[in-house]
Amino acid sequence: MAEKTVFKRIIDGEIPADIVYEDEHCLAFRDINPRAPTHVLLIPKAEIPTLDDLSEADHALAGHLLLAVGKVAKTLGIEGAYRVVANCGAEVGQEVMHVHFHVLAGRPLGWPPG
Ligand code: AMP
Repeated sequence: MAEKTVFKRIIDGEIPADIVYEDEHCLAFRDINPRAPTHVLLIPKAEIPTLDDLSEADHALAGHLLLAVGKVAKTLGIEGAYRVVANCGAEVGQEVMHVHFHVLAGRPLGWPPG
């Protein structure tokens, strides 16, 4: 069986995380190496490696995740002033092969992103 990703280990409670939001289908916790004053990762509890691996069967989950972004932003008090980033694939910097959205806020964020 493939080795668990670090995010699956967080979901399973094997390693600690600073959790800011959780519901039946997803979990949000602070990034261990924050790139902005607020840097949270939102992940599905289901093990899906990349955005490319989402299928029609994940329709409801995909919508749930997007709605959860807003809930996380509200929880953190950053509504209207945050960026969501999802790296898809090692070529663009995805290191953890478990779908995740970076939620970044608290400093000016350049555009286009590097
Ligand atoms: P990505 O490069 O898009 O795959 O992002 C992975 C993110 O996971 C990076 O920003 C890491 O700092 C973060 N990360 C890795 N391990 C942990 C951990 N144990 N707790 C919180 N964040 C982590």
